Amino acid sequence: MNIALFGGTFDPIHQGHLALAREAQERFQLGCVYFTPANVPPHKQQHPISSYFHRYAMVALATMNEKAFVPSLLEAPGEAPVTASTGKKGHAQAGANYTIDTVRRLKQTLRKSDRLFFLIGIDAFKDIASWHDGVALFRECEFIVASRPGYSLADVAHALPETLRPRSAVTKPFAKQPAKGDLVLPGATVHLLENVHQNVSATAIRDAVAAKKPLTKFVDSAVADYIKKMGLYRSK
Ligand code: ATP
Repeated sequence: MNIALFGGTFDPIHQGHLALAREAQERFQLGCVYFTPANVPPHKQQHPISSYFHRYAMVALATMNEKAFVPSLLEAPGEAPVTASTGKKGHAQAGANYTIDTVRRLKQTLRKSDRLFFLIGIDAFKDIASWHDGVALFRECEFIVASRPGYSLADVAHALPETLRPRSAVTKPFAKQPAKGDLVLPGATVHLLENVHQNVSATAIRDAVAAKKPLTKFVDSAVADYIKKMGLYRSK
């Protein structure tokens, strides 16, 4: 079966996330997409993040009606201790969840014949070279990246961890090619989804709530009700 891991802060989950997952599901016949909210430790937060439990609840509500969309507890508090990966290349930080650890724990539950993909937006993919043990992550799974107009295939190739990055002579012709199709390199397979990006972000949703603006079509109605009921995002 084709399976995808979709990690994020999901504070809150919105239609951009769901559109990415739906498009990936269709193109790669995904039998299961694990929506995995990260348990971001307090010292890693640049701005206050809602509790893991609120974010998980909203993921569960938003995925409720899609059979193949599964809310995942893989990074729940206490589920994802820092593991032996500390000490490898990348930015290791005590108390943090690392995607490589989550991917490896998920893979322990999969069959040999399963094919694992990692879903990510191009904004987040741009920083992939700084992720802890990024090279190993590309070895463990294929990437599905939601692209956006304005990005070239060269931008995607340049974002790769240094040891996986093709030489500039190779990427030069990529500069004029839009980020679409597949990039298959030694050690990394990246599939690009074109124009999935909906013009919405969790930041914009939090700002809208704080400004007492109505929550529009960008959030699932059950999530909008939950935000209201629990009084989330009222102050910035
Ligand atoms: P914030 O505004 O708080 O930074 P966000 O909307 O980017 O949050 P995250 O939970 O940080 O949401 O994103 C999880 C993943 O979803 C990331 O890989 C991100 O690139 C991707 N993503 C977020 N918004 C969109 C969107 N509108 N379209 C496609 N992908 C998206």
